[in-house]
Amino acid sequence: MESLLEVDGTSEGGGRRGRLHLPHGVVETPVFMPVGTVASVKAVEQSVLETLGQGERGAQIILANTYHLYLRPGHELVRRMGGVHRFMSWERPMLTDSGGFQVFSLSKLRKITPDGVEFRSHLDGSKHFFSPEHSMEVQITLGADVMMAFDECVETPASWERTSASMGLTHAWAQRSKDYFEEHKTEVPWFEARGGKTQSLFGIVQGGMYVDLRKESAERLVEMDFPGYAIGGLAVGEPREVTREMIARTLEWLPKDKPRYVMGVGYPDEIEEYAKMGVDMMDCVLPTRAGRHGLVFARENGAVVRMNIKRKEYAEDQGPIDPECGCMVCRRYSRAYLRHLYVAGEALSATLNSVHNLAFYLDTMSRVRAELGASVTV
Ligand SMILES: [Zn+2]
Repeated sequence: MESLLEVDGTSEGGGRRGRLHLPHGVVETPVFMPVGTVASVKAVEQSVLETLGQGERGAQIILANTYHLYLRPGHELVRRMGGVHRFMSWERPMLTDSGGFQVFSLSKLRKITPDGVEFRSHLDGSKHFFSPEHSMEVQITLGADVMMAFDECVETPASWERTSASMGLTHAWAQRSKDYFEEHKTEVPWFEARGGKTQSLFGIVQGGMYVDLRKESAERLVEMDFPGYAIGGLAVGEPREVTREMIARTLEWLPKDKPRYVMGVGYPDEIEEYAKMGVDMMDCVLPTRAGRHGLVFARENGAVVRMNIKRKEYAEDQGPIDPECGCMVCRRYSRAYLRHLYVAGEALSATLNSVHNLAFYLDTMSRVRAELGASVTV
């Protein structure tokens, strides 16, 4: 089988320049994936996503949340609409999470058993049950290129004993996810249209903030032989040095020829740092969430700064958010206008701030790829 990740070479710091070969296209790595929670990157339309950033090449891959799509509009409806790509008219690669993180963070009254999790919808209080098998069924039905094993996300902080027990459950669920996936992978909506290609199921390393547990988790999942590995349960409130250490240590125990994905990070300087350490994929709601709250990123003397566009000092500022940024927002609109839109509560405010922030993230990764491309040794 063709390898999922093609690596050109590795830099001294461990960063890798490569390409992911997915059924809906090739993704240049390291890559940042905008989050399209309910099959929509909030306030940003698909044709805009396709033209964001340097060279206007746009977002290469986006993420959608299984928990949200399962509850509304329902995965069976998405199947009837031809799968998530066709439903949202996005023909580039996609990734779905397992639903685990949202079940543990959003839903009410959850009950965890070795079999799975019973929970109540945050929308209407209705009762649902997710098992590893059911998460796989939903994700195969949605049909993203990459899907994730169902895991338990432990609360932070959690004791070593609690984290260890939770991790054991995650490992048992990872094996069950894999078994179900292997048996049902040809049921993906585009199986025949894509010449018999299937999705890729990634395992998720857990282990909280304990290095020994992270090691055990990585080793156990590598034994199960997934085509890619995520590092989960980070950026949940722990200090940044701890996040960094957990990533650095876990990367040592993951295979070099397979993609590594850190879930739910981070600020622009963090994604740059982690990419240079050898992380191939990252996702975060931050560029769009911050944008909706009037927070935009810019670079000043090489450092990333956060600007609060609603501040009075921008009321008559005719400059762009970031003079160095060539995005469609910075080329056309002033800080004064963007401040006015925010203060007036205009929907366009969320759109323009999100477009700039996403372009800023994608440009950060383009630059990192160029740097890595120039420095890697084969
Ligand atoms: Zn911009």
